[in-house]
Amino acid sequence: MKHFINIVFYLTFGTVYGQTLVVLGTLQDGGSPHMNCEKPCCAAPKANDYVACLGVYDSTLAVLFDATPDIVPQLGEILERSGSKKYSVFLTHAHMGHYTGLAHFGREAANTSKVPVYAMPRMIDFLAKNGPWNQLLKLQNITLNGLEEGVPRMLKNGLIIEPFLVPHRDEFSETVGYYIKRKGGKVALYIPDIDKWEEWEENIIAVIPRVDFAFIDGTFFADGEVPRPMSEVPHPFISESAKLFSYLPRKEREKIYFIHLNHSNPGRNAEFEGRKALEAEGLHFAEFGQEFQL
Ligand SMILES: [Zn+2]
Ligand SMILES: [Zn+2]
Ligand SMILES: [Zn+2]
Repeated sequence: MKHFINIVFYLTFGTVYGQTLVVLGTLQDGGSPHMNCEKPCCAAPKANDYVACLGVYDSTLAVLFDATPDIVPQLGEILERSGSKKYSVFLTHAHMGHYTGLAHFGREAANTSKVPVYAMPRMIDFLAKNGPWNQLLKLQNITLNGLEEGVPRMLKNGLIIEPFLVPHRDEFSETVGYYIKRKGGKVALYIPDIDKWEEWEENIIAVIPRVDFAFIDGTFFADGEVPRPMSEVPHPFISESAKLFSYLPRKEREKIYFIHLNHSNPGRNAEFEGRKALEAEGLHFAEFGQEFQL
């Protein structure tokens, strides 16, 4: 009987109460083709190759994690999958790949009405005090909703979003990652940018077992990848992360998806031997359009 009730409940409410997480972009802020890059990495652009972005949707809501420079096709994609006309945005930080897409909500473009944008205090302050972002507020194209570290924000249909601070180059705002969870459902971890795992107060090795999927910073594959001092743009190299994750059991490693890949990252190519070796160990590379049930 209980089983029957569950089935009826699912058929009645399943589409409303179950959210889907979708990968809407996988690249570092500068995207690809990357300005002034004449190397093979940017010679043959792929379809739907957008800046790092996750979406969560059901038939009544659509949530974007970050407003990237590619927000136009990314928002179009999630609204098509959802069928909903309502959407909101959670921001991680004030680097160009993560918030400048907000410009499309303004009067010169979509001229939206009161799109809910969620952000941390410094990020909110930055948007509220600087043009052109403060005009989005003045014209009510967006509304700003404050987040607090470690405080879960309940959205509709049991969707819960919880921000946490991560160490990053915080010139204009703090930087957060998110736990994306559904009440009674699964938990996804999103950390597109972090300087180095050692600088985070949490131990990533202890965090992975507490989540079901982990989308984490895979900006560079290894040291020496770009011709500039890589300490200026610190990220955990995929090679370093993979070494760390080798201490996890395989079933834990299988939760991990590298995202936010720099144009130069050889791991963007599915045929790259270094990537194939990591995939053989259970690790994954996020791909546009991949879906996960929360
Ligand atoms: Zn970034
Ligand atoms: Zn390139
Ligand atoms: Zn950043």
